Amino acid sequence: MNQHIHCIINNCHYWSQGNKCAANEILVTSDEFGANQPDRIDATMAKQLTPQPAETCMATCCKTFVLKGSGDANVDRVQKMS
Ligand code: SF4
Repeated sequence: MNQHIHCIINNCHYWSQGNKCAANEILVTSDEFGANQPDRIDATMAKQLTPQPAETCMATCCKTFVLKGSGDANVDRVQKMS
């Protein structure tokens, strides 16, 4: 699959020029799941997670977001592509 993820969150560790996400995988969840689960629960564990619904796009979030420069980028084991 030749997939491109576009993102405008430029203070994320995985953001790159041209508003592209450079993470090799991301996990989108409900806001509630994202708020309640630790950072280590992320895309690398996706197959083990239970699917769930969301009512609107406003109720979803990118759980792979890591604040640029925070030093937390290795917690989720997601790779940043060059
Ligand atoms: S990990 Fe999520 S927030 Fe960060 S650049 Fe990719 S899509 Fe955007």
